[in-house]
Amino acid sequence: MNALASTNRNFRHAARLLSLDSKFEKSLLMPYREIKFECTIPKDDGSLVSYVGFRVQHDNSRGPMKGGIRYHPKVEHDEVNALAQLMTWKTAVVNVPYGGAKGGIGCSPKDFSVSELERLTRVFTQKIHDVIGVNIDVPAPDMGTNAQTMAWISDEYSKFHGYSPAIVTGKPIELGGSLGREAATGRGVVFATEALLADHGKSIKGLTFVIQGFGNVGSWVARLIHERGGKIIAVSDVTGAVKNPNGLDIPALLEHKEKSGSLSNFDDGDMMNADELLIHECDVLVPCALSGVLTRENAGDVKAKFIIEAANNPTDPEADEILSKKGVVILPDIYANAGGVTVSYFELVQNNQHIMWDEEKVNAELKKYMAGAFNSIKSMCRTYECNLRMGAFTLGVSRVAQCTLLRGWGC
Ligand code: GLU
Repeated sequence: MNALASTNRNFRHAARLLSLDSKFEKSLLMPYREIKFECTIPKDDGSLVSYVGFRVQHDNSRGPMKGGIRYHPKVEHDEVNALAQLMTWKTAVVNVPYGGAKGGIGCSPKDFSVSELERLTRVFTQKIHDVIGVNIDVPAPDMGTNAQTMAWISDEYSKFHGYSPAIVTGKPIELGGSLGREAATGRGVVFATEALLADHGKSIKGLTFVIQGFGNVGSWVARLIHERGGKIIAVSDVTGAVKNPNGLDIPALLEHKEKSGSLSNFDDGDMMNADELLIHECDVLVPCALSGVLTRENAGDVKAKFIIEAANNPTDPEADEILSKKGVVILPDIYANAGGVTVSYFELVQNNQHIMWDEEKVNAELKKYMAGAFNSIKSMCRTYECNLRMGAFTLGVSRVAQCTLLRGWGC
């Protein structure tokens, strides 16, 4: 099932549990605005290349829309729509005063030089500058983009509207970024994991973990789980997968990847088939990469007892059902990976107050938000006798519906 169909299905299920009036379904499933446009740039060798760009603004009932900009070959209409909708529920689940959006370019960023990436980002910004704004829609980094991308967006935007640091989050610290923002999604995943495990009378220390993805999110998750005494027995990224049944030395693996650009040829582990990673024997599986990796084909063979959805939409609905029947506990994406947007909100609070928090404060506040959201999800699970995914969806959807109702339909 494609990402949008699966996200819509989860929304409808939550709406049914909440007995929401059908008028909400109409207004909450349709995005507020979506734009699709051409991004053409000259390459360094003078040739011209064109890519498709998107910005989908899903809902602003709870505040300005918020969400990342993704540069990846899989960026297309339905995927971006699904991700924008997930942002709406995610910001509501952690209760930050923002709505949901997502955007990006269907391209492979590793094929570009730095100056080509800068040109592409500036062209992208020229196409969206009219529909974003500090009170309208605030972009952030996502897959394939980073603080430097945000600096270029901010600079290009300033040519049209004047300079405002709060036009993007996840920006460089020198330009008003927040300490702790880069690690925030991964750190939030780990706080969420701690909350879930504590609820089952367990802790990270001594459990075995398998992590799919070793980019920004996956590498921070690995580092923080390792620091807390969790045994990470397998890790993968686009370059391959590596395992060690006694636990991988994560600081050494990070250094190896930094130096060689790949997970291959790591002395302290054996290479393994990346497809087998998801069905490897472990206590906790953490998909930190793309959507749709757990499917009808592999769900039956998953051995993990807990799945932490650090990626967006990693489990398709058929896999969800198979895993639930097997008793696997799934911590859903709209909660598990909400740490990034939560610290984006802290970044905007700091920008608005012209102050800078120290990293301890950022991390302590993040922990508070993640713990609070977990308790609220559990309370929805009790009320509606549902699993954690529906607990999170009913929480997010009910908060958004409440604001929609209070604000009215504008006619
Ligand atoms: N791209 C991140 C996400 O998907 C962060 C979005 C933001 O901070 O606005 O949650």
